[in-house]
Amino acid sequence: RTGWLLRLKSGLRKTGSSISTVFTGTQIDDALYEELETALLLADTGVKATGHLLAELKRRAKERRATDPAAVKALLAEALAELLRPLEKTLVIGAHRPTVIMVAGVNGAGKTTSIGKLTKHLADAGATVLLAAADTFRAAAREQLGVWADRNMVEIVGQEGGDPAAVGFDAVSAGKARGKDVVLVDTAGRLPTQLHLMQELAKIRRVIGKADAGAPHEVLLVLDGNTGQNALAQVRAFDDALQLTGLIVTKLDGTAKGGVLAAIAQERPIPVYFIGVGEKLEDLETFNAREFSQALLD
Ligand code: GDP
Repeated sequence: RTGWLLRLKSGLRKTGSSISTVFTGTQIDDALYEELETALLLADTGVKATGHLLAELKRRAKERRATDPAAVKALLAEALAELLRPLEKTLVIGAHRPTVIMVAGVNGAGKTTSIGKLTKHLADAGATVLLAAADTFRAAAREQLGVWADRNMVEIVGQEGGDPAAVGFDAVSAGKARGKDVVLVDTAGRLPTQLHLMQELAKIRRVIGKADAGAPHEVLLVLDGNTGQNALAQVRAFDDALQLTGLIVTKLDGTAKGGVLAAIAQERPIPVYFIGVGEKLEDLETFNAREFSQALLD
């Protein structure tokens, strides 16, 4: 259970170390806070969350009479963990049968991989899963999802060239008829700027609700942790179109600038159900604010 934390740490080290070096001096002064501001911005923390963290840090440093930079660093870890804590949430299935989970994201974010990982996670927990390939544009996408389905030994529905909303509808109906615990609906990757495709997503969501009132029960956005400040724009756009219930943030084992989670927590606090920390099926972890903030500042 510690392997992923090491990978997360090595992924965050590049930016994390630049935050840590701010605290290697001996004085707490304006220069320290200025350097910290720069380091946080470089880690994609965003202007608002950076401002919040700095104000919070100065207040705490004064209140607790911090006398050296190491103490300020510990206070930063604390403030960051508090900011991130609202993002901690467990994905619960079982309240509905099937629990319908719709998944969206831009191309290359790691959506297909994350669906494979999520399928394994759910199957390991004893749930029966039906996969819906509502990405009807790319034959390759369906094939790729099929590979994950085979690996996880779960059924998959959806044919190439069909209407994605119809695939979603059929999948939910099939999930009900077959008594599945979960129906996972994959959708084609798209950019928030492709308005007609964003509207299509909203339509898939609506039509799924016609197959089963109350569905989808979860609407997840898969977000590449390396997207930088654009990540926040993506979260806003997909949330506006789909009313997201959760995020999966991928590739945090790479060169991620983990501060983006602080920016999300500050401006659009949507729960992070999982983080992706590698390319393998088991490289999916639940998000823990304290562990994450410590990994970032290590
Ligand atoms: P999609 O276009 O959103 O479906 O993206 P894919 O699932 O095809 O993933 C794109 C690339 O990112 C692939 O090479 C994946 O192996 C890789 N990938 C996905 N998630 C992770 C992750 O958490 N860590 C790493 N290192 N790579 C990932």
